Amino acid sequence: MQSLRTALIVGGGIAGPAAALALARIGVRSTIVESHPGPADGVGAILTLAANGLDVLRTLGAETPVTDAAQLITEVQMADAAGQVFARHPGGGYVLPRDLLARILSEHAASTGAEIRYGAAVTDISSSAHAVTARLADGSVREADLLIGADGIHSTIRTLIDPDAPAPVFEGVLGFGAATDPDGVHAEPGVMHFAFGQRFLGYWRLPDGRICWYAALASEALTSREIAAIPTAEWLARLRADYAGDAPAATLLARTSLDDLISTGPTLRMPPVPHWHRDRVVLVGDAVHAPSSTSGQGASLALESAIELARALRDLPDIADAFTAYEQIRRPRVEAIAAMAAAANNRKAGRAPEAGVPAFDPTEHRIDFDRTIE
Ligand SMILES: Cc1cc2nc3c(=O)[nH]c(=O)nc-3n(C[C@H](O)[C@H](O)[C@H](O)COP(=O)(O)OP(=O)(O)OC[C@H]3O[C@@H](n4cnc5c(N)ncnc54)[C@H](O)[C@@H]3O)c2cc1C
Repeated sequence: MQSLRTALIVGGGIAGPAAALALARIGVRSTIVESHPGPADGVGAILTLAANGLDVLRTLGAETPVTDAAQLITEVQMADAAGQVFARHPGGGYVLPRDLLARILSEHAASTGAEIRYGAAVTDISSSAHAVTARLADGSVREADLLIGADGIHSTIRTLIDPDAPAPVFEGVLGFGAATDPDGVHAEPGVMHFAFGQRFLGYWRLPDGRICWYAALASEALTSREIAAIPTAEWLARLRADYAGDAPAATLLARTSLDDLISTGPTLRMPPVPHWHRDRVVLVGDAVHAPSSTSGQGASLALESAIELARALRDLPDIADAFTAYEQIRRPRVEAIAAMAAAANNRKAGRAPEAGVPAFDPTEHRIDFDRTIE
């Protein structure tokens, strides 16, 4: 597209820097504005990058620093409450802290010419025939040829595109986790263990020998701030009561100290978003398609959307056509994966899954960035 030179990207998480990297490949200069004051947000939660996400990183030239920093999981094992393994299958992907992935992608985007401004939150936008203008919380304004809302599941840009856009849906559980001494709990290196007792618990062995576990605690809807306001001792006691009798959850929880326990917040997903774009503004990543975190696909789908958006902007004659093509390519895939994850959550919770939900392996998807969109 001839007239496209500059992009303002709102959000410096995963989708934002990935979009900047993809746009650099088609000759568009990006400015990323990120509301956090610096590149590392300090939140210790860990995410999974599946083979489809890794393939995008390869396209963007960012695969090696990520795989060097991450831990490779090659097998998933499922066991019952007594610890008896009843299924194992190959795969899993790479696990790494979310803030580390964001930092690697941001540094790579900066090295390809993107400007990154931290402590800069967008509060309002307006489009004209030739440009889009964003207003920041400090009162300054920024102008670009297009604006990409990569501002996560609580997206401001989503509601600026459509004030009636749906909000994230609470999945009924809060996430908790810790890294703890194994104390006799066996975890094979490179294996992700799923323990299906009275409750679900996932865990794997860290390179330093400790075991990292994550749990889902049934709860009323609480925000991260509300969770933080409740003493950690209370959460640990609730987790120990909920998982009593489950192997190896009870042992791991007994070994977990108050200092080590972290909350990863409420488990949320985005329902289908009716409007993905308006005028010169478009959404990518969790802002428009966050599946439940149990899918393990949030980061990988964000990466996929970033490069599909750049392909569409490269190949279609104007912004409106490009946004339409991008949505047509992405919407069926991300909504099918979200539906599949919701059905799996229902099965885990003992509820009947909806009929007609597709079943496929989302990790097999590959995008040929060089192939032209007709
Ligand atoms: C603090 C945090 C911790 C997370 N932990 C996990 C985890 O443990 N496991 C997991 O699977 N997924 C986690 N996620 C979600 C995961 O990063 C996403 O599912 C996925 O990677 C898609 O990334 P994204 O870039 O679309 O959204 P995000 O990673 O959420 O990034 C959005 C970014 O936009 C910024 N932002 C928001 N509003 C504005 C605004 N108005 N102006 C400027 N900037 C704005 C946010 O500060 C954030 O950095 C976490 C997200 C966050 C923000």
